[in-house]
Amino acid sequence: MKFKIHRGTKEIGGSCVHIWTEKTKILLDYGIPLVEKDGSEFNIDKYKTLTIKELIEKSILPNIKGIYKDDKNVINGVILSHAHLDHYGLFNFLNPNLKCYLGRATHKIIELNSLFTPQLISIANPVYFEKEKTFKIGDISITPYWADHSAFDSYSFLIEADGKKIFYSGDFRGHGRKAKVFKWFTHHAPQNVGYLLLEGTSIGRENKLSKSETELEDDFVALFRESNKINLIYTSGQNIDRLVSIYRACLKTGKILVIDVYVAEILKELSEFAKIPHPSENFKGLRVIFPYYTSKRLTNEGNENILYQFKEYKITKEEINKQPDKIVMVVRPSMQKDLDNIKNIDGGNLIYSMWDGYMEKSSTKKFIDYLMKRGFTLYKIHTSGHADIKSLEEMVNALKPKAIVPIHTFEADKYKDIFKFPVVEVNDGEEITV
Ligand SMILES: [Zn+2]
Ligand SMILES: [Zn+2]
Repeated sequence: MKFKIHRGTKEIGGSCVHIWTEKTKILLDYGIPLVEKDGSEFNIDKYKTLTIKELIEKSILPNIKGIYKDDKNVINGVILSHAHLDHYGLFNFLNPNLKCYLGRATHKIIELNSLFTPQLISIANPVYFEKEKTFKIGDISITPYWADHSAFDSYSFLIEADGKKIFYSGDFRGHGRKAKVFKWFTHHAPQNVGYLLLEGTSIGRENKLSKSETELEDDFVALFRESNKINLIYTSGQNIDRLVSIYRACLKTGKILVIDVYVAEILKELSEFAKIPHPSENFKGLRVIFPYYTSKRLTNEGNENILYQFKEYKITKEEINKQPDKIVMVVRPSMQKDLDNIKNIDGGNLIYSMWDGYMEKSSTKKFIDYLMKRGFTLYKIHTSGHADIKSLEEMVNALKPKAIVPIHTFEADKYKDIFKFPVVEVNDGEEITV
């Protein structure tokens, strides 16, 4: 068995690993880069007019035969670890005949993204896998392990062929709401692994220990308790762990949690897979707002039914205006027009609950500035979606690999100072025999 990391050995984002035997070829993830070569923000729109051939020449797309639209002999499959764009953002370039192996909830999230966000990515040929159930693609066996990560339905993978084993960590952590899943893994990790492809997002970035999602819940409780004004929270509508923390903090402090129709739809659809709060009789104090732009888009595209299903749980701007001290509301920049029409919230709290780096994005900056002008106080309550050093060490010690290969990191050279196992630093595009 051989493998090649096409992108990710020296950067976070654009993850793509090619693994093959004599008979079978697969890809693990096919993500969009987050940064350009000079470190600035990557924007695919800049390359819109280029052909696939030109994109390969510019190394925007990896040079792999059998994955693109015009390729005749397509490879045997692509496996997706989770629904973050840095892992699936280039899928539209793939040959539609290529089978995509992914979790059912992951596919659901990707479909919802196409309804609500500018990312119109569709999975033409899905095949669903289940956690800890080994499946085969040709002569390669793949076992997905459930991972604790900020994306719902995330996986690590054990890849076996020719009597050899590779383990791909994907994105993971040990301090989220699935901390127990990670604990379980450390006691049931596969053995005799050759190469461990280990993400290192937090290396060089975080303290040794990250706050747990439960500790974050306490931080929200403390802030909600002391405030007699509105609490707006800017967080990802897809960070289910975070939304659960916020909802639990609202229950403890008697606040009403207001989510918009986008977040409501995500929670409703994913409640099929796990017990998570969503607008229903079973979850008290959860109300739905219908933002102008989102409602307009859903209506224009013939998806009004998504709006109607939440009408029982609707909260109006007037109701928010009357009792801002009772309200915790999940917001994002596209809701500025709606906030304009809620006059009585000036001087409230804005809680930023995402990675600090996103604050540099111009839309985020503008949104925060807007609320600062309305007298809001900015708080940051956040913990990383990625493993801290302690959890990275726990994964390594559980797997006891023959060698660790850095991936999904800007700090590959620091691995050898952290881990007790041998580190093999490779370059993008370098072929490794297992
Ligand atoms: Zn991720
Ligand atoms: Zn990632």
